[in-house]
Amino acid sequence: MLISEYVFEIYPNKNLMTIIKNITYFALIMLAFLRSAIPSETNQEFNLTEIAKNNYVHTGNHASIEGIGNDDIANIGFIVGNNCVAVIDTGGSIKTGEKLKNTIRKITKKPICYVINTHVHFDHILGNKAFLEENPNFVGHKDLAEAINRNRDFFLTQFKNNLGPKAKASDVIGPNILIEESTRLELGGRTLTLIPFSISHSYNDLIVIDNKTKTKT
Ligand SMILES: [Zn+2]
Repeated sequence: MLISEYVFEIYPNKNLMTIIKNITYFALIMLAFLRSAIPSETNQEFNLTEIAKNNYVHTGNHASIEGIGNDDIANIGFIVGNNCVAVIDTGGSIKTGEKLKNTIRKITKKPICYVINTHVHFDHILGNKAFLEENPNFVGHKDLAEAINRNRDFFLTQFKNNLGPKAKASDVIGPNILIEESTRLELGGRTLTLIPFSISHSYNDLIVIDNKTKTKT
């Protein structure tokens, strides 16, 4: 059966051209809707703002933690010193971590000496793996390593799309430097002060202060 015959069978009293036009309009409207509803990887810029000298923030999207785009809902960033770079949180997926790393590399070739995680929530830590080959120190609250260990299976199950189909436990990376009290990190002409809290947004929150510009994360 030809499409025109099929259309006439359904709508025997309507003009064929009008029906085809309406179907075409409908298809175009649906296409436009779908394009706006599904984020396009290729068209999306990885936003970045220099909020203070050599202090950069990527602002996460407003999205459900269970929906499309949940891997980029946290505000993350980095600070560039004379000697090296400190990353502060890495996003909710390895892909988001890679976008952050690629963005850093457009700005500076200095080594990434620290990846600091402010707390255990997935949207701040699952991008850590993207920085592994840079060989940084991973830094977190004294209780962060244990919190990641407790949640590792949950992350692998609940956020398997964010970690990739072949993800394994070792892809969820915890800290090798644990912060128990107010601690200073040197980036060269740039000092960060890290202050741990026992109960705050989580049970392992760490505030990062850029001493030079007084910005806090
Ligand atoms: Zn959180």
